[in-house]
Amino acid sequence: MDPSQKTAWLSIATNMLLVAIKTSIALISGSLAVAADAIHSLSDVVSSAIILLGIKIADRPARGFPYGLYKVENLVAMGTSILILFAGYEIIKTVFGGGGPAIPRQLPLAITGVSLTIVITWLFSRYELKKGHETGSPSLIADARHIWSDMLSSLVILTALLGSALGLAIDKYAAVIVVFFIARSAIIILLDSVRVLLDASLNYQSLTRIREIVLADTRVAAINNIWARNAGRYKFVELDLILRVKELEKGHQVAKEIENRVKRELGQVDRVLIHAQPRQGELLTMAIPLNPDQETISDHFGEAPFFRLVRLQRRSGHIVEEELLANPYLEEEKAKGIKVAKWLLEKGLEVLISRHDQADKGPGFVLGNGGAEILVTEEKSASRALNQAGKVNSST
Ligand SMILES: [Zn+2]
Repeated sequence: MDPSQKTAWLSIATNMLLVAIKTSIALISGSLAVAADAIHSLSDVVSSAIILLGIKIADRPARGFPYGLYKVENLVAMGTSILILFAGYEIIKTVFGGGGPAIPRQLPLAITGVSLTIVITWLFSRYELKKGHETGSPSLIADARHIWSDMLSSLVILTALLGSALGLAIDKYAAVIVVFFIARSAIIILLDSVRVLLDASLNYQSLTRIREIVLADTRVAAINNIWARNAGRYKFVELDLILRVKELEKGHQVAKEIENRVKRELGQVDRVLIHAQPRQGELLTMAIPLNPDQETISDHFGEAPFFRLVRLQRRSGHIVEEELLANPYLEEEKAKGIKVAKWLLEKGLEVLISRHDQADKGPGFVLGNGGAEILVTEEKSASRALNQAGKVNSST
């Protein structure tokens, strides 16, 4: 068993010990506040058990459930939170129905017992926090913080018992406070479970992260749609993408790479489903590297000071839009050509008109990967090269 799982089991054992001590004190003293605290610890045992159950279920293939049994975790959490709310309601009913003693019985024993639970909670939360940092497990760290906050609610109860020893009837008030906190966390768990069971979308941050990961790939022209949801602790992602590729084979490969990247960087992803289609717009985007005179074609690529970017009608070859762009990477020390290639792809480049075949060079690879073609020309004048290219393209 790995150390973080061992610590998770220890957390369950500790909480079970706390349940036993608190239940005994509640029965002996009749304190409603301690009874509420016992219910709280019991709910902690159940939620820790759900976490371990979730890990076990996640590894198990189930023939009748092709999307996995992950949601069992949410279903159990929902059931548990309803039971906790019901138990809280019972305590409140007793408080307002005048049940339970105004001053708990056997106070010295109750005070000793509650003090003992505080010491146990304090020691265990420190131990778990240390283990959590050692193993880098966020769930252990979260659990340690939770147990620490439980210690604070036990302190409220201890204070109430000490007040009772002085003759103050404050046990019921402490019970109401404890029930309020139990009910609050139970309602949060209940709402979260229902959201997951109804396939609510992933939160905004995760969706933004997916968008960033996908768009970082220069071969992705656009994201049409993202659907993503949780099931248990796992995520399911569906993407509808437009790719800058022409062949189906290549599209599959790009989709596979994006799938792996999303799984690796997002974490706890069960599956990524990608619908990809090649881009086929009305317009074709071409670029030409220019010399400082802004008309003749540059013999360089990365070091060309200007680029003419042209969008033309795919059918007629008619120019719709034209831009003169200054090369933003002219002063870069390294990998100018590659940076320029990526920049042009972001601008939607599909055809580069060049006096050289760049195919075996770095920028050529980047352009080819991005689905752009290189059209080699003998012309010196950019306008004439464009004219020809437009005709060639419209005839095919
Ligand atoms: Zn707790």
